[in-house]
Amino acid sequence: MDQEKIRQAVSLLIEGIGEDGSREGLRETPERIARMYEEICGGYAQSPEEVLSKTFTVEHNEPVIVRDITFYSLCEHHMLPFFGKVHIAYIPNGKVVGLSKLARCVEVYARRLQIQENMTGQIADAIMEVLKPQGVMVVVEAEHLCMSMRGVQKPGSRTETYAVRGVFEQQPGMQNRFLQLLTKM
Ligand code: ZN
Repeated sequence: MDQEKIRQAVSLLIEGIGEDGSREGLRETPERIARMYEEICGGYAQSPEEVLSKTFTVEHNEPVIVRDITFYSLCEHHMLPFFGKVHIAYIPNGKVVGLSKLARCVEVYARRLQIQENMTGQIADAIMEVLKPQGVMVVVEAEHLCMSMRGVQKPGSRTETYAVRGVFEQQPGMQNRFLQLLTKM
């Protein structure tokens, strides 16, 4: 990540808004924001292989459901936050991954400039490719500050997106059953 470019861009943005970048409260803002992006866009420096490669063998392929993984991302159209919960269900194929690793896989994709639909699909694809389960289903529910703060201004409205792969895609009955489990609260 090019911190110097981010600093310059933020200085220009402050100037463009018509603010005085030299006043006390703003003087260190470009530097602070450059450091912040290192963290909130840190997903570019990570890969799902890194976080999902440590697996455990299982004898029975019972479904695994992880609900309420909190995430924060930035919408690529406005660079404003969207945030909420990710719910994941998968049917293993002899291998499972530590539950915290699924949360880290979410971060790999959330900490980038995103749209919610793509993030949902990317999480599902990463789990399919690295863990190779029989199927995976990902549900994301989020509030978008670009909708709450500006434009249509609908605070509190939530957007839900879904991605289904493998057996969940092939068997609509199973898809419906797990959709109920993942969105029951
Ligand atoms: Zn937006």
